[in-house]
Amino acid sequence: MRFRVGFGYDVHRLAEGRPLWLGGVRIDHGTGLAGHSDADVLLHALCDALLGAAGLPDIGHHFPDTDPRWKDADSKVLLREVVRLVAERGWRVGNVDCSLVLERPRIKPHIPAMKRALAPILGVEEEAVGIKATTNEKLGFVGREEGACAYAVALLQGA
Ligand code: MG
Repeated sequence: MRFRVGFGYDVHRLAEGRPLWLGGVRIDHGTGLAGHSDADVLLHALCDALLGAAGLPDIGHHFPDTDPRWKDADSKVLLREVVRLVAERGWRVGNVDCSLVLERPRIKPHIPAMKRALAPILGVEEEAVGIKATTNEKLGFVGREEGACAYAVALLQGA
């Protein structure tokens, strides 16, 4: 059996008047992440982990922010396309693990919904979708609630 591991990182600014999308789930909050797409920072990190594992170019290459097709796009559509791209090269997802870093709101109550949303797209069981969240202890840009960032790793198995 062949295996590949990949890593992804992303950051987005928090802005007034934007919906907050994280892990494919819309969360009720006063601010949301700014970006060309829905700016789901967790899914973008996850896409880059999957693309990296397959040795493919990063998310910005596949979904450029100059392309009107991806304006306010649901990042689950991007993730689905990334899973298709890696499958095309003979890989299926083994498991993924993500860490989200933001001060507010509390993420823990939303994690089961995120796993439910992502597992079918990734083609894995919910227990193969790791999602954790932490604050940044009020330090730096995350601590000042200027933005949020996410880290992800993904394991691919030869299909
Ligand atoms: Mg992004």
